[in-house]
Amino acid sequence: MHFLAHNSFLFTVVIMCLVHATLLVITFFAGVPPLALANVVSVIVYLFCIILCRSGHIMPVYVSILMEVACYSALAVYYIGWKSGSANFLISIVPIIIYFGCYLFKARKRWIIVAVLALDFLMYALLYIGLKDMAPIFEINDVANTSMMIFASFVMFFSVVFYISIFIYADEHTRITLEQENKQLSAEAQEDALTRTLNRRGFTPVITELMKGDASNHFCIAFFDIDNFKRINDTYGHDCGDEVLRHVSALARKEMNGCEICRWGGEEFIILMRDYDMAVAKQKMEYLRKCVETTPTVFFNNHIPATITIGLEEYAEKYNDPDELIKVADERMYYGKQHGKNIVISEGGNAA
Ligand code: GH3
Ligand code: MG
Ligand code: MG
Repeated sequence: MHFLAHNSFLFTVVIMCLVHATLLVITFFAGVPPLALANVVSVIVYLFCIILCRSGHIMPVYVSILMEVACYSALAVYYIGWKSGSANFLISIVPIIIYFGCYLFKARKRWIIVAVLALDFLMYALLYIGLKDMAPIFEINDVANTSMMIFASFVMFFSVVFYISIFIYADEHTRITLEQENKQLSAEAQEDALTRTLNRRGFTPVITELMKGDASNHFCIAFFDIDNFKRINDTYGHDCGDEVLRHVSALARKEMNGCEICRWGGEEFIILMRDYDMAVAKQKMEYLRKCVETTPTVFFNNHIPATITIGLEEYAEKYNDPDELIKVADERMYYGKQHGKNIVISEGGNAA
């Protein structure tokens, strides 16, 4: 279905070509040479249309289909009579008029589709009024007449089923694609593009939700900042600084698996450790600090060392909103900056 939906124009002209090849055989054996000749012309027209379709020229294909079906239906009803069902081809192309038309004409120009549909129906009605009671030029036998009628009805049936299926498929495909894109967009809106950690927008609801829960919730947060980061940028360039940010955040993600990590801004990050008490959080942060210190970033064969300073705080009932809690961890980190950096501060102003 996917293949057909993506090649629907080409598929349409190939089917039209096959329809006329079949009609060519029927009219030839039914002994209607002018109609057989008309079918030869139609097959040639559709072979050209296949070439046009492949080169993306849909408008001439659209016009050719309209002209061809109108001429052929009129000729067929004229030569072999209304009972041959040949006028049904005018009904068969209704979905094609709409489908191709919607591709070719957008917005206000869609009136053209309505006009073409009206002309198509007018033609059908005129053929009925003008030729219904007229004796056909060629009297074809019952078998040929029935074959014609069944075949024309089948083409009509096939056309309706095929284009409705294509419309439904295209609609569902668009809906699924949109849903996926929406999911992707909302995930990206909560994610920092450089480090693939949460950004503030993604992180704030997580911690807010946790603080809303019952007071027995216990968790710790660590606020860390890369030391002398400006110097890294100044010495090795901004791209290298970016690589250090990616590397340090990847280390934090790996070592603190299961914790939420947020890029709070610049070279500052927050780690949210659910179900950690202060003692365990301190140990883990000390481990992470050492890990960063001993695992330099590799940037174009350069090994760039970096360290981080970490401020820690444990959630307690006295904290009413995330900002208060984060502020304490931030202040401890700042204290660490003033006391030598590359350190974990977990209380008042004492190094852990
Ligand atoms: P300290 O140890 O006190 O934290 O010093 P610092 O140099 O790390 O801090 P400072 O605030 O002086 O400099 C931070 C620098 O981080 C300044 C800014 O240009 C840089 N920075 C912020 N965001 C990015 C980023 O996305 N990429 C890069 N490469 N640099 C960034
Ligand atoms: Mg810094
Ligand atoms: Mg900073």
